[in-house]
Amino acid sequence: MDRFSINNIRKEFLNFYQSKGHLTEQSFSLIPKNDKSLLLIGAGMAPMKKYFTGAETPPSKRMATCQKCVRTGDIENVGVTARHLTFFEMLGNFSFGDYFKEEAITWAWEFLTEVLKVDKEKLWVTVFNEDDEALKIWNEKVGLPLERIVKLGKEDNFWELEVGPSGPCSEIFYDMGENRGCGSPDCKPGCDCSRYIEIWNLVFTQFDKDEQGVYHPLSNPNIDTGAGLERVATALQGKETVFDVEPLRTIIKKVEELSNIAYGSDKRKDTAMKIICDHSRAATFLICDGVIPSNEGRGYVLRRLIRRAIRQGKYLGIHREFLSETVQVVINEWKEAYPQLFEKEFYILKVVNLEEEKFKTTIDQGLELLQKEIQKIRDTNMSILDANIAFKLYDTYGFPSELTEEILNENDFELDKKQFLLIMEEHRIMAREARNKTGNSGWKDQEFNIDTAKTIFTGYTNVSNNSEILGIVVNGAEVDTIDEGQSGAIILDKTPFYAEGGGQIGDTGKLISDTVEIDVTNTKKFNKEIVIHEVTVIKGNVSVGENIISTIDVDRRRNTAKNHTCTHILHRVLKDLLGEHVNQAGSYVTDERLRFDYTHFETVDAETIKKIEKLVNEAIQADYRVTFDLLSKQEAQKLGATALFDEKYGDVVRVVSVGDFSKELCGGVHIDETSKIGMFKIISEGSIASGVRRVEAVTGRAAINYLNELSDLVEELSHSMKATKEELLSKVNNLKKESKDKDKEIQKLNNELLKNSMGQILEQYEEINGMKLFALKLIDKDANSLREIADKIKDKNQSCIVLLASELNEKVLFVASVTKDLIEKGINAGNIVKQAASIAGGGGGGRPDFAQAGGKNPEKIDEAINAVKEQLSTQN
Ligand code: ATP
Ligand code: MG
Repeated sequence: MDRFSINNIRKEFLNFYQSKGHLTEQSFSLIPKNDKSLLLIGAGMAPMKKYFTGAETPPSKRMATCQKCVRTGDIENVGVTARHLTFFEMLGNFSFGDYFKEEAITWAWEFLTEVLKVDKEKLWVTVFNEDDEALKIWNEKVGLPLERIVKLGKEDNFWELEVGPSGPCSEIFYDMGENRGCGSPDCKPGCDCSRYIEIWNLVFTQFDKDEQGVYHPLSNPNIDTGAGLERVATALQGKETVFDVEPLRTIIKKVEELSNIAYGSDKRKDTAMKIICDHSRAATFLICDGVIPSNEGRGYVLRRLIRRAIRQGKYLGIHREFLSETVQVVINEWKEAYPQLFEKEFYILKVVNLEEEKFKTTIDQGLELLQKEIQKIRDTNMSILDANIAFKLYDTYGFPSELTEEILNENDFELDKKQFLLIMEEHRIMAREARNKTGNSGWKDQEFNIDTAKTIFTGYTNVSNNSEILGIVVNGAEVDTIDEGQSGAIILDKTPFYAEGGGQIGDTGKLISDTVEIDVTNTKKFNKEIVIHEVTVIKGNVSVGENIISTIDVDRRRNTAKNHTCTHILHRVLKDLLGEHVNQAGSYVTDERLRFDYTHFETVDAETIKKIEKLVNEAIQADYRVTFDLLSKQEAQKLGATALFDEKYGDVVRVVSVGDFSKELCGGVHIDETSKIGMFKIISEGSIASGVRRVEAVTGRAAINYLNELSDLVEELSHSMKATKEELLSKVNNLKKESKDKDKEIQKLNNELLKNSMGQILEQYEEINGMKLFALKLIDKDANSLREIADKIKDKNQSCIVLLASELNEKVLFVASVTKDLIEKGINAGNIVKQAASIAGGGGGGRPDFAQAGGKNPEKIDEAINAVKEQLSTQN
C-alpha cells in the first residue's frame, strides 16, 4: 500500500497514537449529540467539547480519532481553491489535562518522520511569537533548525473564542518545492503563495479567557490537534489539489464518463466536476449518519448540497439522473474504512434517488423562470432580483435560496436577501397560525409558576384515587381556593390522570367530594414531574390541603389504551413487512384514532396496506397479553426493545411487551389483552415529508362505526344509482365512459362551429397603418377557445393583431396576439391586453406575442376595443 495513501495515513495515525497510550475511537457521527450550538460536526474536537469543558469525564485522558467533518462555511471555496472540501476527515489527538506541548510536538514529528518517513528537510513549522516554550521544543528536542521555525502573530497562531479555553498553536507545513512558490526570497510558511501547505495544527489550550479578555492559566492544560487527511495526502503525494488524490480522483473519473468531458480541459468545467465530487461525498456521509433532505437545519444542508451538485451536472450537459452513480462510487471507495456505508448502501442510494427525482421535475422549469427573470433584470438595467421570485423558486421549484443567489451572482446580479428572509418569515408565521387554529388549548402559553412536590402517577393500575390538593392556579397565579364557575389548574399529590406525553393525549375526568364537582378537561405535565389538571369547577369550591376523589373518564381512557397498544403492533408489523429501517418519526394516540409517522422511502401500495391491516388484526386476534417491566437501559437494549436509545431516557426504562410480538420503550397506558382492541382499520396512508409517511387508523368501536359509515354510503349510492351493490362498480364505469364520449362529442361540435364561423371571423378586420386588426367581441368563450381562434387568425394572416374579448360569467376575458413581424415593429400583445383590461376594470399581461387579461365590466368592452384602436392608429 502506498505510504501516503489516504487509507494508510489514517491507519498509521491511529496505530501510532494507540501505541502512545491513546484510546482510539471510530469517528463520531456527523450529527452532534446533545449540543444545540452546532448543526454539524466540523472538527475532531467538536464531539469532545464536553471533555474539554469538564462537563463529562472522558473515557481516557488521551484520545485519538479520525473524525468525519462537514464545513458548510467552505462551500464557496470548493472547486475554487486547491484545498477546500465541504466533507473531509480530520486526524486528531487529544489530551484532557494529561500530556502537553512537549509530547504533542515530539510525537507529531515522530509520526511524520519515522512512521510515514516524510523527508525532514521538507517540514517547516510556525509558532506563536510569544510561545518560547514551543520554539524551544521544536529547536532543542526535535532538532529543527531555527531557520525553519517561523514566528507568527496572534491572528495566525492563537486559537480562541469570545471567552473560554484558548491558547497558542503551532502549525506544521510541507514544502511543495520551489516551482510551486512565488519566488520571493522571503517566501516561507505564512506566505500567501502555494509553496508551503499547512498539514497539521497543534493547539495548546493553556488559558481560560474571561469576559474582560484576561487570560488565566489553566491548571490542567489540554491538547487538541487537527490534520485534514485529504490535505495531508495531497501534500505528501505532491498533488495539485485535494481532488487529485485517490479515491477522490475516481469520483471525478465517473463524472468524466457521465459528461464525456475530460477533466483538465476547461477551468470552469473542472470546478463543476470538483463540486459534484465533493458534494456526492458529503451527501453520502450525511445520509449515512441519518440526515434526510428537508427544508430545515441539517436536512437543508443536505438538500442544498444535492441540488447544487445536480445543477453542476446540468452545466456539464448531463441530462439524466446521475447522482446515485457518483454516490455509488463514494460508497465503493470508502466502505472499507466506513462499513456503515456498505450496510446502508441501499438506503443511501434510495434517498439520493428520491431527492434527485423530486428536483428533476422542477429544476428545468425553475431554471427557465430564473433565466427569464435574469433577462428582465438585464433589459431594465436593474441589478437585483425581486425577492418574491426567489421565494417562488424556493417554494414551488425547490431551489435553495443559495442556489438562486449563486446563479444570479454568476450573471453579476444580486438577490434581495433581506427581503427574501422577510417573506420566508411571513410564510412561517402564516403556517404557524394555521397550525395553532387547529391545534391545542394553548395552555403552554399561559405562563405560570408553581412549586409543589412532584405528583405520583397511579394510573397504570388505578382509575380512581383519594387525592390531596397540593396547589391551585387561576389566571396564571397561585391561589388557595378555586370557586364555582372558575377555570384553572389543580395539582394533586397522586393522580390516576395520565398527563399528555409520549404521543398519548392527556386524560379527562372528574374531581369529586360530597359538596364539590369539578370537570378535568385535560391533563398536562409541568416541569416534567408535576401533573397539571386543567379544570372547570361545576359545583362548590375547593382549597389547597383538602382531599378529593379523582376519577378518570374510563371509557375514553380504554379507547386511548386500545389505540396505544395497537400503535405498538402496527410499528412491529411495519418493520416486519417493509424492513428494519422503518422507525417511528412521530405518533399521536387519542381515544378516537391513532396516527403513526414512520420513516420509509417508497409509496406503500394498496395491496401492502391491506396486508398491514391483516397482520395487525391477526395480532389482535392472537390475544397477546400486554405486560410491563422496569429494566436498566442495557437490559432493555439486550432484549431488543424498539427505541432510539438516545439520552432522553433515564437509566431505568419501562418496557411494554405485547406477548412476544413486540417490545417497546414506552411510558403510556395500554390495554391488558390485545383481543380487547377488537378491530383495526386504516383510514389513510400517505407521505407527509421526504422519507416520512403517516398512517391514520381506528380501532374497536371507532372501527366499527367507520365500517358502518362506509356501508351506509354504499347503500345510498346503490339507491341513487338504482343498482345493486354488485352492479355498482360496472355502472359507475359505464357512466364514466359515457361522459367521456359526450365530452368528445361536444369538442367535435365546438370545432365544427368554430370552423363554420371562422370564415366570417377572418373577414372582420380593419386596416390601421398597414396592419390588420381583428378586434372581436365574443360570448361565452373560455381562454382556450380564444387562444385557438387567435392562432387560427394568425395562421391565415400576416402583419396582424388579434384582440378578442369574451363575455364569460358576467366578466370579460381579453386575449391579444401579434405576428412576429409586428412585434419587431414594437407592437406588444402584453401592452394591448393591459390597456384593454384596465378600461374594463381589471389587469393582466403576458408576452409580446401572446397575452391574456381579465376585467370586471363587460359593458366596457367596446370602449376598451376603441381605446386600443386609437392607440394603434397613433403608432407607426
Ligand atoms: P483553512 O484556513 O485552510 O480553511 P482552517 O484554519 O480553517 O484551514 P483548521 O480549522 O485549523 O483549518 O482545521 C484543521 C485542519 O483541517 C486544517 O489544517 C486542514 O488540514 C483541515 N481542513 C480545514 N478545513 C478544511 C476543508 N474545508 N477541506 C479540507 N480540509 C480542511
Ligand atoms: Mg477554514
